[in-house]
Amino acid sequence: MRSVEEHLHAVLDGVEPLSPLDHTLLDARTCVLAEDVTAPWPLPAFDNSSMDGYAVIAADLDSASDGKPTSLSVVDDVPAGYRASVPVRPGTAIRIMTGAPLPDGADAVVPVELTDGGTDTVRVTSSIKRGSHVRRRGEDVQLGDLVVRSGALLGPREIALLAAVGRGRVRVHPQPRVVVLSTGSELVEPGAALSPGLIVDSNGVTIAAAVQEAGAIAYRVGPVKDDTSTLLATLEDQLVRADLIITTGGVSAGAYDTVKAVLSRLGTVEFTRVAMQPGMPQGHGTLGPDATPIFTLPGNPVSAYVSFEVFVRPVLRRMLGHQHIYRPVVRAVLAETLHSPAGKRQFARGHLAVEDGRYVVRPAGGQGSHMLGALAKANALVVVPEDVTEAKPGTAVAVLRLDEG
Ligand code: AMP
Ligand code: MG
Repeated sequence: MRSVEEHLHAVLDGVEPLSPLDHTLLDARTCVLAEDVTAPWPLPAFDNSSMDGYAVIAADLDSASDGKPTSLSVVDDVPAGYRASVPVRPGTAIRIMTGAPLPDGADAVVPVELTDGGTDTVRVTSSIKRGSHVRRRGEDVQLGDLVVRSGALLGPREIALLAAVGRGRVRVHPQPRVVVLSTGSELVEPGAALSPGLIVDSNGVTIAAAVQEAGAIAYRVGPVKDDTSTLLATLEDQLVRADLIITTGGVSAGAYDTVKAVLSRLGTVEFTRVAMQPGMPQGHGTLGPDATPIFTLPGNPVSAYVSFEVFVRPVLRRMLGHQHIYRPVVRAVLAETLHSPAGKRQFARGHLAVEDGRYVVRPAGGQGSHMLGALAKANALVVVPEDVTEAKPGTAVAVLRLDEG
């Protein structure tokens, strides 16, 4: 039997970020940037007003007050997007809107609230410091600054800055396209009518959702019947659009375990037993002319999900170009006893919370690998090491946070 580390090492071997592609900014959201982006101009690009008001020479208003307003003659009007056609000279002002370029000669903006709002002559009721309400060229970002680094995850904030420095497109590692294929003659689509003996294909949507949550694109296929020729034909069809394939089910030692039967014959996938619970039967290899990676996950729903989390997610994160490919792990105090098989690493479903300023984790109901009710209560996987068969309340345990990047 392989250890979890050995299997993880094997599945990550040779995995590289997908080759960079040009994406429009919005399509690049959730992708990892594959170039350093520098500012071809400063931000702000020019001195401009931060208020609606009047561009003035501050010294003109030294004696202005409520009781004794100073009058200035208004010589121009600049909305955002326009430039003043004349400079501000002593004794004059230019009406200006937020974002409009500061006119030549002006050194401050008086907010409209400190004036009578006049359009020919304006009466100003307060003195003002030089530089007031002016956003200076380059005060935020300087020409040539490295604004977003290669390796950065692009979200709304990074996209804002990339747009502001003039980028409509950027080079990113594209999202892997992942085909998720459920196998099992007992399976029907979620929402479809069930007859006795049949169950809902929950793995297809679970794993597809987990793929999306990891940042990749999921294409769901199936459920595919336990029939070798159907499975083979389906796999061949799907290869063209896959950067990675995930199957669930059909990998135990049963008579109808078609995934194992088909892929063993092709000789590309290695079926192994990993010393973990849930998720012992694992298969991994490549398929087709482009050596597309394939994972054959166990059919039990909790086993499939935990296997995805432990082995497939890190691979997808690496293909996406992330530096941090693993879920964050925290130390928590175990609240209830956990039993674990000898020689296997248990990934018990748990609920992690902060109690009295420390992390406490509570097993989330039944630990059977078919128990989706318990899985849905969990937000974490409690790691019980191979050499521990009973973890007592109060023990410090490592916990994988399933709701954190
Ligand atoms: P298998 O590995 O195909 O023998 O499946 C193991 C167990 O998981 C069986 O009880 C299956 O019915 C169940 N199972 C397999 N595939 C799925 C699926 N896509 N959704 C829900 N349960 C499944
Ligand atoms: Mg099956």
